[in-house]
Amino acid sequence: MEQPLATGATRPERIEHHTRNAKWKNLPVRIEMLECINCDACLRHCPPQFGAIFNHGPDVVILPELCSGCDKCLPACPVNCIYPFTDWEQRDVPFEWWDEPLSDNDPYI
Ligand code: SF4
Ligand code: SF4
Repeated sequence: MEQPLATGATRPERIEHHTRNAKWKNLPVRIEMLECINCDACLRHCPPQFGAIFNHGPDVVILPELCSGCDKCLPACPVNCIYPFTDWEQRDVPFEWWDEPLSDNDPYI
């Protein structure tokens, strides 16, 4: 039997298939690492149903496939270093970032 196409409707599905919710219209956002002061404020403002921001080693990172573009993290950032990720489909983020969701380091579970 043919598998239904993954739609990314839930966070677990997005994590399993590394896919964005097909219904999300907004661009994901990204952190400019050269400007980020690693304060973790954004991480606490990302709604858990999205749960897109992680500590990854010394960095704070956003997985675009988990980010709805709701912009709730933007006002939390003291240095305004979160930007629209305009070319996210062409610019892969490091694959190791996927080690974080559902790990002991996942702040949203
Ligand atoms: S835009 Fe929304 S979903 Fe994306 S990282 Fe910020 S708070 Fe999370
Ligand atoms: S709130 Fe801004 S400075 Fe702080 S960790 Fe997030 S992106 Fe970096």
